[in-house]
Amino acid sequence: MIKEIKGLHHVTSMAGDAAENNAFFTQTLGLRRVKKTVNFDAPEVYHLYYGDEIGTPGSVMTYFPFGNMPNGRRGTGEVGTTEFAVPKGALPFWKERLGKYGVTGLTENRYLGEHRLQFNGPDGDGFALVESAERGRKPWTGTDVPEDAGILGFHGARFNLRDAAATGELLTFMGYQKDDTDGAITRYRIEGGNAADTIDLEELRGAKIAGQGAGSVHHIAFAVEDRAKQLEVRKALMDTGYQVTPVIDRDYFWAIYFRTPGGILFEVATNEPGFDRDEDTAHLGEALKLPDRYEPQRAQIEGLLPPIGE
Ligand code: ZN
Repeated sequence: MIKEIKGLHHVTSMAGDAAENNAFFTQTLGLRRVKKTVNFDAPEVYHLYYGDEIGTPGSVMTYFPFGNMPNGRRGTGEVGTTEFAVPKGALPFWKERLGKYGVTGLTENRYLGEHRLQFNGPDGDGFALVESAERGRKPWTGTDVPEDAGILGFHGARFNLRDAAATGELLTFMGYQKDDTDGAITRYRIEGGNAADTIDLEELRGAKIAGQGAGSVHHIAFAVEDRAKQLEVRKALMDTGYQVTPVIDRDYFWAIYFRTPGGILFEVATNEPGFDRDEDTAHLGEALKLPDRYEPQRAQIEGLLPPIGE
């Protein structure tokens, strides 16, 4: 069994309009844009990172805004809901705020003893705010969201699956333990992890397979401390029969990827080196950062990217 995984690192989704995406996360949700860079495989598309002050692993929501990409179709084989933690008692504030911003799909509910507010992102993304313990996390304060209501990174994620058994086995192999069940939802939790330590599996037998598009999660990344631990995880997965990519340098972390039996693309990402490796903490996310290989084409790339505002 793998013991090196410490909960979530980041969640990466696809979006339509880049400016709308930026406004939703930095203004409506009050997160900090911690990096403005490009898709390393398609530099005419941004890669935008939103999180807490420094982009702590377990707080980082990232996007590839592809412009006029059609919305994805919700279904099985995908991350159905990305969940952010908020302090206890903060949901009435958020219900009013999201309503004022015209956010759709606002639904309050309670699962596994937790009070939640579900809502849609700009492209129909599935999100929830979950009242949970702070566990040492702090919200970004450079926003008009009051500190006692601010988002505290991820709570976890819910996967929509036709059959949860194989994914449950994989999570167990990755160090998660089966926790409570509520109807068709089974929670898995990692001991000794960061605060983004839960994955809920919802079984939707007979539901259609999701179609990826804007608003769909592209992959979900799990955190390991460093590159040595990542290599141990890679070996353990490959010894079990998973096809895992080589280690890829993403400038702010190192990544490996593998496809899971339920259809969701997993990544394992290192906590090192972090988002302040090429920018001062005070100015994270302000300048367009390019990987070295694209620096010679900076002027051309800047000409292709739409303005997105602060
Ligand atoms: Zn990733």
